[in-house]
Amino acid sequence: MVQLQCQKCNYKFETARKPSEIRACPYCGTVGSVREIPNASDLLRNADVDEARSFRKTA
Ligand SMILES: [Zn+2]
Repeated sequence: MVQLQCQKCNYKFETARKPSEIRACPYCGTVGSVREIPNASDLLRNADVDEARSFRKTA
């Protein structure tokens, strides 16, 4: 599951679909306002800069 939040109305929701498939906020209907919310494990991973760089390089 991916957590998403609308930048317009701050409505949070989860989806099993790809974030790129969510074009409009299901609450206010604003197109292009939905952003993915990084989860805790992603934040921990990003804190390790060297590991993040090597991961991006090989990805
Ligand atoms: Zn919204």
